[in-house]
Amino acid sequence: MNSELRQEYLAALGLKSWTLRTAAGPGSSPAAQAAALAAAIPIAAPATAATHAAAIHSAALPIAARAAREAGVDWPELRARVAACTRCGLSATRTQTVFGVGNLHADWLIVGEAPGADEDRKGEPFVGRAGQLLNSMLHAVGLAREQVYIANVLKCRPPGNRDPNPAEAAECLPYLERQIALLKPKIMLAVGRIAAQNLLHTDKTLGSLRQQVHRFGASSVPLIVTYHPGYLLRTPTDKRKTWEDLKFARDVCSRV
Ligand code: SF4
Repeated sequence: MNSELRQEYLAALGLKSWTLRTAAGPGSSPAAQAAALAAAIPIAAPATAATHAAAIHSAALPIAARAAREAGVDWPELRARVAACTRCGLSATRTQTVFGVGNLHADWLIVGEAPGADEDRKGEPFVGRAGQLLNSMLHAVGLAREQVYIANVLKCRPPGNRDPNPAEAAECLPYLERQIALLKPKIMLAVGRIAAQNLLHTDKTLGSLRQQVHRFGASSVPLIVTYHPGYLLRTPTDKRKTWEDLKFARDVCSRV
């Protein structure tokens, strides 16, 4: 990815000002600005085994019955089961299920909360303005949307975009767990509080879950927590923290 394109994506994360702190200001040559931009994007410092070990928190494993529910199911069958699912009341109000999208050999799995109105209408996670910002977030760390896999904890939209209730999440999680088992990602990025709390079986705040390497499920997939792009659209001041989380995730992924 060339530096101008990356600068565009960084600008979407509210990080345009990073280039202005360097010796190469707006009036300098493109080459000087590119060099200054590269210098302004620090690669996360390697964490020692001790610091990573101290940061690791094991997520509670799904109960055996839930884990077994979709065991052995392949991608087409899993998609068909989700499309026909009536396990919770959200089936009555959805336009369609939102299974997930992306590269079935992806290293990165992005997990959000649940479909919103746009997703419910289109049948794809993270579309609309939040989806565009997610794409920019990914591009900022050198990833195209087509290179990752994107899914939600819930496959159906809660009416009025309310938070999913625990029973709905418990019924739907086995589908995501099977997606993870099939995908075998190198890293998971939980975006938003609801996704993080459901994946990690915790009620801790999002802020307290950031910048740590959590582990998901029996395969101990590294899991990093960051803000939901929908939240960032309302609270752009937290985009810089998100950028720190993305760099952290990139660093962790490079070590898997
Ligand atoms: S939210 Fe999940 S469990 Fe509930 S109906 Fe949709 S697919 Fe089934």
